[in-house]
Formats: sequence, structure tokens, C-alpha cells
Amino acid sequence: MGLGSLFSRFLPARARNEPACSHLDMVKVLTTEAEGCEECLKTGDGWLHLRLCMVCGKVGCCDDSPNTHATKHFHEGGHALIRSLEPDESWAYCFVDDVMMADPAEDAAAR
Ligand SMILES: [Zn+2]
Ligand SMILES: [Zn+2]
Ligand SMILES: [Zn+2]
Repeated sequence: MGLGSLFSRFLPARARNEPACSHLDMVKVLTTEAEGCEECLKTGDGWLHLRLCMVCGKVGCCDDSPNTHATKHFHEGGHALIRSLEPDESWAYCFVDDVMMADPAEDAAAR
């Protein structure tokens, strides 16, 4: 790692008015028919909260679940964008940029 990359970590990544996430053009899927974590259903494990991969539509479980399949899915497939499938939660998240965002499905429904 050179000095340049070390410094760039401490600089603001982007100007203030631009979205913090640069991966929003990867979003393809906003909703799902799935009612559980696909991987946990296969193995018979339980989960706490559900997350939807907005790139391919895979449903995984959150980091408070024993198997953290949503995060594993990002590490395995590089799909950076998820949104919460919990009815009382409304947010999206980018693993790469580590930013929380407004839920794009909520935006779509409001229009
Ligand atoms: Zn991003
Ligand atoms: Zn799971
Ligand atoms: Zn995915």
C-alpha cells in the first residue's frame, strides 16, 4: 500500500451533494416473494431479520442472525446493496461504501 492510498482513506470520498454510494446502478430487484433466508431454510437454521440483495434478489439473514447470510452473500458474490425486509424498517445499505440509505422500494411506492 502506497502513501497515496493511505491518505485517500482520510479524505472525504465525494462532494457533499453527490450520493454517498456509487453502486446504485447495480440495483435490479426491490421486492421478493421469499419469506425466509434461503440458506437457513435449506439447513433448517433460524434467523432474526431478513435482508434482500438488491442486485440478484437473494434473501439472506442479518448480522444478528447466527449465520449472517446477507453479509456472506456480499463476500461471496460481491453484491454490495441490500435493503431490509423487516416491515418496521426502511433502509438500504451498501457494503462497499458502508453507508445507510433511504429504502429505494419506499421511494418507488411513494411515487
Ligand atoms: Zn455503494
Ligand atoms: Zn440465513
Ligand atoms: Zn446478490
